[in-house]
Amino acid sequence: MKTRLDDLAVFGGLPEFQEKLHVGRPNIGNRERLLDRVNLMLDRKWLTNNGPFVQEFERRVADLVGVKHCIAMCNGTVALEIAIRALDLKGEVILPSLTFIASAHALQWQEITPVFCDVDPETYTLDTLCLERMITPRTTGIIGVHLWGRPCQIEALEGIASKHGLKLMFDAAHGFGGSYKGKMIGGFGNAEVFSFHATKFFNTTEGGAVVTNDDELATKIRLMKNFGFYGMDNVIYIGTNGKMNEFSALMGLTNLESLEHFVKINKTNYLCYSDELKAVPGIKLIHHDLREKCNCQYIVLEFDESLTILSRDEIAHILHAENVLARRYFYPGCHRMEPYKSYFPHSGLVLPETEKIVKKVLSLPTGTAIEPQDIKKICHIISFAIQNASDIKGKLTEYDLKRELIPGFRMT
Ligand SMILES: *Cc1c(COP(=O)(O)O)cnc(C)c1O
Repeated sequence: MKTRLDDLAVFGGLPEFQEKLHVGRPNIGNRERLLDRVNLMLDRKWLTNNGPFVQEFERRVADLVGVKHCIAMCNGTVALEIAIRALDLKGEVILPSLTFIASAHALQWQEITPVFCDVDPETYTLDTLCLERMITPRTTGIIGVHLWGRPCQIEALEGIASKHGLKLMFDAAHGFGGSYKGKMIGGFGNAEVFSFHATKFFNTTEGGAVVTNDDELATKIRLMKNFGFYGMDNVIYIGTNGKMNEFSALMGLTNLESLEHFVKINKTNYLCYSDELKAVPGIKLIHHDLREKCNCQYIVLEFDESLTILSRDEIAHILHAENVLARRYFYPGCHRMEPYKSYFPHSGLVLPETEKIVKKVLSLPTGTAIEPQDIKKICHIISFAIQNASDIKGKLTEYDLKRELIPGFRMT
């Protein structure tokens, strides 16, 4: 427990945690089951190319999400690229800037212009009014992002897409296991894309999937992710290598068996953070609607600097010194990263909400790697810092903020 300013590691005290606490430590299921499956894979000597584990994994995911087709892939980014291409998107596609850079890169990689749209101040997902204003004759589609697992305003987006004859896709990298109005995320729009990267709520080490109810689209995506092969020596389409391998699939099957357990832990963690921070002035925890299914994987604090006095970055700095590696996801927004920053240097002007949000949010560790007692310690550091904000602010010089206190760590 920190009781004096000098107890803070940023001022020379002992770090609260000996080991670094990361945001997005992997959730891993039963090790015995995993190793049994590894042995089975080795006995079968079938490592990739639509193996039995991949087929079983695709069926399980499709059942869980309640869609007709799941096409498993090597990662979420390739799944996005292939879905975009299979949907015939070109010209301009509208998406939020407040997302992981892969959402935009998946378009630009195939020379489709990402048009960044602002987000709604309530949900932090696409603002439907801004969106309609950004539609031009070159627009072919919309990609909504269920940021931090909180669903987009899906019905409104469906209305806009059908009114303007646009394709609608969702980057559901954060949304696995969640629902919108009782229906599982994954079943909306023309297609949705999951990421099963190690840092996501549910992982296959690296991995991703496109899910859809469209038979024709699913067939096309299956071809595209396997070089366009249709039978042994017959290629009928341009394609790439987007296949998921058997090791990833068996990791996925094993982790799926523990999904309920992961959700339970994340919910307990979320409620613990919420309880511990509710009395701290100027700090709000991003709300997860527990009436819906929700993976609660993102614990995101929002700072009102007029009350906390210490800025989001100063709190992050203090936490980093304590070995709590809080992250500023998704600072500074895609529009402020290359190549988009050079292409559209003034796009910030039409993204006022995005520009505000990226400066005030901070993601904290959760998942199976962290216990409620750790959460209490993290929250104590935050509330102690804010109680002593003026004194701390005086001590934290500009020089301090720029210096690397944690070897090898750089604020990104
Ligand atoms: C993680 C992520 C991706 C990319 O998924 P990978 O599996 O890492 O390629 C895409 N979009 C969003 C919003 C993500 O968070």
